[in-house]
Amino acid sequence: MATSGLRERPLGSGDKGNKPLVSALAVDKNYGGVQALKSVTFDIRSGEILGLIGPNGSGKSTCVNVLSGAVRPSSGQILLEGVDTGQMSVDAIVSRGMVRTYQATQIFPEFSVLDNVLLGCHSRRTVSPLSAVLRTPAARSENNTMIANAMSALEAVRLDQRPEQIASTLSAADQRLLMIAVMVAAAPKVILLDEPAAGMVSSERQALADVIRILPSKGISVMVIEHHMGLIMDVCDRIVVLNFGQKIADGTPAEIRNDPAVIEAYLGHRDADRH
Ligand code: ADP
Ligand code: MG
Repeated sequence: MATSGLRERPLGSGDKGNKPLVSALAVDKNYGGVQALKSVTFDIRSGEILGLIGPNGSGKSTCVNVLSGAVRPSSGQILLEGVDTGQMSVDAIVSRGMVRTYQATQIFPEFSVLDNVLLGCHSRRTVSPLSAVLRTPAARSENNTMIANAMSALEAVRLDQRPEQIASTLSAADQRLLMIAVMVAAAPKVILLDEPAAGMVSSERQALADVIRILPSKGISVMVIEHHMGLIMDVCDRIVVLNFGQKIADGTPAEIRNDPAVIEAYLGHRDADRH
């Protein structure tokens, strides 16, 4: 196929969801003498899948850390729906709808698939703990709602066929999908994924790509960091490229693929993973 399996996009779909949901404005992050980010400015738009790529050490994970509030920018601003997150705790940023994954898998291995998702939703209960213990009608009804919500999140990642399976017995790739289901169940506005396909084989990457693609239809925008170019080019509406902490390109997959600065950045890094 001429498009080498890429999703067909009508012209201008790079502007999809043109409202900025998250904005990084002139963000600098210094670690001692290392300038991990240098005046980085970009948006994650509502309803889009944004790719963040760049050679190793170019500042991608630092970007996620700064957006999620895990580290503070040395200067510059992060806006979430127009509100500066500078003074917000990580929890406040999460409760405003921005969630992230880490490169390492974080699940409760001894619990079932369904219980992992339910545990993730626990903080969103509205009935009192006493009502929950006494199993009042309100608590029972809330439980049923939470289970339905959890099952819907599992369906989104295609793990709904085995809710009782113990999480540690899932493949590493399915554990990664379970992490995404935990986030989906919390109905965030935007999910930041840091190298979700690391270590995956081709069929697993394909399953992950299918999951990422449906998130916007659930009202969830995505920023995904990934080394695997096939996955990035396939799922992203738009791509931001970092090199040595600076943004060197921002455009549709077709624009990025042909951008001389991007080609140069990748060819200049012998350690970069160039699939
Ligand atoms: P990427 O995710 O693109 O591989 P990172 O954001 O992890 O890159 O790192 C960008 C630069 O910042 C690298 O030079 C890295 O060594 C440095 N860096 C990242 N985090 C820290 C930290 N906590 N302390 C010191 N230096 C860091
Ligand atoms: Mg990284």
